[in-house]
Amino acid sequence: MKCIVCHGEDIQVETVKEGLKIENDLVYVCVRIPVCRTCGERYYDRHTMQFLEEVNRKLKEKKHNNLKEIGKILEYSFSNPPV
Ligand SMILES: [Zn+2]
Repeated sequence: MKCIVCHGEDIQVETVKEGLKIENDLVYVCVRIPVCRTCGERYYDRHTMQFLEEVNRKLKEKKHNNLKEIGKILEYSFSNPPV
């Protein structure tokens, strides 16, 4: 398998944290997928896509109770935004 982005051949299955955005929150879900070691391109198979869509749906319905807060998302606000 060659990377479609950089044509590198060093693609390994790794555990990566995929970020799902739920309103203003970001939820990281660990998945094991092939990742290009050269450029970082991630390859999702059908099974992984379906899994992430399922998690995304459950999160939106607030059906998950196994969430752990690991950080905060902050917004830096300006009183006079630079143009
Ligand atoms: Zn690549």
